[in-house]
Amino acid sequence: MTETSKVTDTMRLLQPSWSAPASVFALVTTRQGGVSNAPFDTFNLALHVNDNPIDVATNRALLQELLDGPIHLQWLAQVHGTEVVHAECGKGERAGDAVFIDTMGVAGAVLTADCLPVFFAARDGRSVAVAHAGWRGLADGILEQTLARFPVPTSEIIAWLGPAIGPCHFEVGAEVREIFLDSTVDEQLRGRISADGFRPGLITGKYLADLYAIARIRLLALGVVDVTGGGWCTHCDTSRFYSYRRDGVTGRMASVIGLRPIS
Ligand SMILES: [Zn+2]
Repeated sequence: MTETSKVTDTMRLLQPSWSAPASVFALVTTRQGGVSNAPFDTFNLALHVNDNPIDVATNRALLQELLDGPIHLQWLAQVHGTEVVHAECGKGERAGDAVFIDTMGVAGAVLTADCLPVFFAARDGRSVAVAHAGWRGLADGILEQTLARFPVPTSEIIAWLGPAIGPCHFEVGAEVREIFLDSTVDEQLRGRISADGFRPGLITGKYLADLYAIARIRLLALGVVDVTGGGWCTHCDTSRFYSYRRDGVTGRMASVIGLRPIS
């Protein structure tokens, strides 16, 4: 038995507990069950972090095996922007921070190590998306841009929040809070983001930001009422998650969503 096969799929993956239709599959990898060496140990899926590319290719092949059937997986080159890529069969890596899928047998992935992965599924089971939402992307409107791609009203879309750095560890400067407050026109919404999204840190002028709370407030304001998930802290859970804040040079987890092939 190899080291890799000793890790069960439950240790290797998180699966959203949400009310997505049967045509949708979604998962988040953890750092367990891959082949990369420290500091990328072991299931790093990112090529841009200076891990051995052969190990990353092996890990990507392992991930492909965990998907249900012959799925084309669309990878992104992320830039902390708001570009949404429309995943198409056979396309290689493209620049963007969210991926929208409306083809059966196609999936998309975002890579994170502290930033918030936000999963979306239309209740009719015909379209899905996943967005890479760091504080910059959240403030600039990555959730809004992703939702705009769906051909259904936002009330017909459900969302799930994957693992991100928690408010216990995500200390930011006052300027980050200001950017959020300045970019929120609605006064009531601004008040909620101020109250629930940021609490004063131990150091004067610093705040502990709650990406989960900010995303929930923004999603609700956009009409997405069914939002589940959240509550992890990538920085706290060393054994399951990579954390850029904690480790600097480290790997990335993949948040994958797709539509099952027509059988
Ligand atoms: Zn924490």
